[in-house]
Amino acid sequence: MSRLKVLSAASELYPLVKTGGLADVTGALPGALSGLEIDVRSLIPGYPSVIGALESCETALEIPDLFGAPARVLAATAGEIDLFVLDAPHLYDRPGNPYTQPDGTDWPDNAFRFAALAKTAALIAEGAIPAFQPDILHVHDWQAALAPAYLRYGGKGGAATVVTVHNLAFQGQFPPELLGPFGLPPDSFSIDGVEHYGMIGFLKAGLRLADRITTVSPSYALEIQQPETGMGLDGLLRERAARLSGILNGIDTGVWDPATDPRIVATYSAETFDTRAKNKTALQDIFGLASEPGALVVGVVSRLSWQKGLDLLADALPVLLDEGMQLALLGAGDADLEARFRAAADANPGRVGVKLGYDEAVAHRIQAGSDALALPSRFEPCGLTQLCGLRYGAVPLVARVGGLADTIIDANEMALAAGVATGIKFQHGTRESLELALRKAGRLFRDRDTWRRLQTNGMATDVSWRAPAKRYALLYRELVAERSTVSGASA
Ligand code: ADP
Repeated sequence: MSRLKVLSAASELYPLVKTGGLADVTGALPGALSGLEIDVRSLIPGYPSVIGALESCETALEIPDLFGAPARVLAATAGEIDLFVLDAPHLYDRPGNPYTQPDGTDWPDNAFRFAALAKTAALIAEGAIPAFQPDILHVHDWQAALAPAYLRYGGKGGAATVVTVHNLAFQGQFPPELLGPFGLPPDSFSIDGVEHYGMIGFLKAGLRLADRITTVSPSYALEIQQPETGMGLDGLLRERAARLSGILNGIDTGVWDPATDPRIVATYSAETFDTRAKNKTALQDIFGLASEPGALVVGVVSRLSWQKGLDLLADALPVLLDEGMQLALLGAGDADLEARFRAAADANPGRVGVKLGYDEAVAHRIQAGSDALALPSRFEPCGLTQLCGLRYGAVPLVARVGGLADTIIDANEMALAAGVATGIKFQHGTRESLELALRKAGRLFRDRDTWRRLQTNGMATDVSWRAPAKRYALLYRELVAERSTVSGASA
């Protein structure tokens, strides 16, 4: 089997730049694919945190004018990762968050910042860097999704394309006047091209023009084809259903490993499970919770946004407290949710602990120290924190939606009797169903053996990239085979 070359293009990549699960995926998938005869190079923007982390680098491509100034593509490595870094200081040499200014609003030139990423990906996919001519261009989310349009309208052809949707809520819509400045021809502005409700839709363009579409769970792949949950793109996705599939994410089981994790107080495995209790004590300590070994600690690690349904958790707090549970919440996001949880912590000292902000180390400590993990999302393309919860023995309490529905085995009577349950599922989007799930968790927790079984079943679940990487590898190979059949037939 010949090795395939894949160019992955995305706006985030762990550990260089991360605001969410996208970075975890783009950071871990290349390593998982390398054992499957697939060489991945990842193209990312040269934000300061990226440029600062490069170990070796050389110029692979000069671009004389990329939206107003020259730019370069650097071939570089950072740790195990092979990178192409788009060094365009006029677009990326800015502090802080990759998408927003220090005051929280979007960078005003985001259209060009990410069109530049897509355009460069397309250049490489056309063969601009002779030393790395990809068979496949794999673009992630709206920030890179215009690349198939550049390829299609560039006229040169090149790699086959895959677009992966990590979250359909973010679509990248920009005014039609930018078509010319982007360097796209007038005929690209059509329903079969980049046009989306009168705007230029980056994600829409990718979904329309890529050879394959994937999303990050089979359930989400179905949900996004339905009008209620398809966010205006369900019609297009239904039309392209034969080209759409859902492949679950894994997690980097090297980074997330309770047996070796340097960020937690006491390492443990299923065999040394009792040691885990030290992490619970430490967690209660850092969150200012009463030191009660018998209280069920519910952990949360999340963006605070409507999607994540944490307003429902705030609504359900009286039930959580009535059950004698404690809450340890780490999150950042909407100001009103931050204020609500801060007020809840003030009103319930020793019972509700809240840390507002983004903190990798605390995220690991919550996974290692809490008894359960709450994920009441309204929608969830895949979700990674519940996979970490499984691996660390924090029992996920999840809304039955998207990837949460696909990754957790509910503790219903049959699954309990068969000894296979790994968590608790509830109807998404209602406070009452979350309250019932909390009551059920309280009941199961009081039966120590049952709870322990849920924890150890979770820890025995394969949440690695092994199986998902095989599915991506198969998809890439099918696509390359399909291409050669088509070109063979037309030759
Ligand atoms: P999303 O990408 O929608 O935010 P995912 O569950 O796919 O959600 O991925 C979230 C990732 O970000 C996980 O790795 C999680 O641990 C991490 N994360 C989320 N919020 C925080 C936070 N406040 N501090 C540290 N890590 C966080």
